[in-house]
Amino acid sequence: MNREHDEIAVVGAGLAGCLLACFLARRGYRVALYERRPDPRTGRVERGRSINLALSERGLDALRRIGLDEQVMADALPMRGRMIHPVAGEPQFQSYSSSGDRAINSISRGALNNALLDAATARPGVRAVFDHRLVGLDPATGELTFETPEGKVTAHAPVVLGADGAGSAVRGQLLAHGLLTESLDFLDYGYKELTVPPVGGDFALDPDALHIWPRGTSMMIALPNPDRSFTCTLFWPTHGTAAFASLGSPAAIERHFAEHYPDLVPLAPNLVDDYQHNPVGVLGTVRCTPWQANGKVGLLGDAAHAIVPFYGQGANCALEDVVELDRCLDECGDDWSAALPLFQQRRQGNAEAIARMALANFVEMRDKVASPLFQLGRRVEHALERALPGRYVSRYELVSFSTTPYAEVARRVRRQHQALGVVAAGAAALLVGAVGTVLGRGRRR
Ligand SMILES: Cc1cc2nc3c(=O)[nH]c(=O)nc-3n(C[C@H](O)[C@H](O)[C@H](O)COP(=O)(O)OP(=O)(O)OC[C@H]3O[C@@H](n4cnc5c(N)ncnc54)[C@H](O)[C@@H]3O)c2cc1C
Repeated sequence: MNREHDEIAVVGAGLAGCLLACFLARRGYRVALYERRPDPRTGRVERGRSINLALSERGLDALRRIGLDEQVMADALPMRGRMIHPVAGEPQFQSYSSSGDRAINSISRGALNNALLDAATARPGVRAVFDHRLVGLDPATGELTFETPEGKVTAHAPVVLGADGAGSAVRGQLLAHGLLTESLDFLDYGYKELTVPPVGGDFALDPDALHIWPRGTSMMIALPNPDRSFTCTLFWPTHGTAAFASLGSPAAIERHFAEHYPDLVPLAPNLVDDYQHNPVGVLGTVRCTPWQANGKVGLLGDAAHAIVPFYGQGANCALEDVVELDRCLDECGDDWSAALPLFQQRRQGNAEAIARMALANFVEMRDKVASPLFQLGRRVEHALERALPGRYVSRYELVSFSTTPYAEVARRVRRQHQALGVVAAGAAALLVGAVGTVLGRGRRR
């Protein structure tokens, strides 16, 4: 491949696609970044995707590598813990880290995407092509077919990279050509966004926390925005009596929220309108294999491994993918037929590990966080982290505040829990022995 003449096609100018274009341009490649939507910088916003997201160390590490971290963080709102809202009583704060000073960052998805798009298109050799929806791909020849407002157009590329999200058309084309298998596990839950506007020009809730209303089988969360509003996301079942569709009238919506989220009602004046007009998004886990075909077509980000959003890691993981692909290209001397399989070998186990942790975290967020036993467990965990710095590190810290590979996080947490189990069993045996001795003495007297 001639880097000066040939153009790599990146499909999808979302988070992963734009960052990838930056990294490829730095390697000296020419890149065409194809996006189905119009240019998002023109101000037209798509409804139904999360407005903000939690950016943590993995995403920040990737942005740092292209010098974009400070610009993105300038508008970020650090959230140092969870604020748990019970049905009755005061909200309770649970710190994310043992030191209390580590934070995940609420950022605007649109602003992050625009910053990445600006960074990509500012690089020599990168051109962004909007209103181009990929509808066809010949994996053998690299011929791409797009639907545009002017009709169908075709293009050719020696390497095609699918960064086109959970419903990836590139993945769909590989599937149609019999080059890949996939499984889509949809959750029986959907999501809907509501807004809490500022009150008197200030935040209506504490902006230092990610707010959670755990309600057993469902939940609502809220993240702060730079304009001092909060975006709330309801995660509710899609079927049954507790489903979104079960609230058919304004009165039913108001009644339901007054009963289950009483502290939200006075803060959300547009509750009924938001509820009735905002769409319900689907949630699921995408698994597929292989992530590449013929060393010429590759998948990354949500296109390869979409996960449910409950660990706040999908975007972080997608951005981290780009760092790893860049590393693979380094190690393979830019031989794509070696780099793409190596990328899959390095990332697939990690993607599976975070997919599982994200599913498990849904149960933790919607149910366990409210229990006194869980809260005690977190306090013990933080005490252990302080007593054994660097040797005992919680899963949350390893996932959110480090770049330890996700699969290694899962293994390390398992080892820590096993060690704790052994210590607890030993302590229990000692206690039983001591109690037995004391009781024995009593009987002899
Ligand atoms: C409710 C919710 C909350 C979330 N919260 C968080 C969070 O707090 N933290 C976090 O890290 N992650 C979060 N995520 C996950 C995160 O949004 C995704 O993991 C991330 O956006 C994936 O990036 P991507 O670039 O792979 O895909 P996307 O961001 O989906 O980008 C794909 C791009 O491809 C374009 N495209 C699609 N099809 C085509 C086509 N046929 N032709 C051309 N272009 C196409 C799309 O328009 C889009 O621009 C959340 C997700 C949801 C649903």
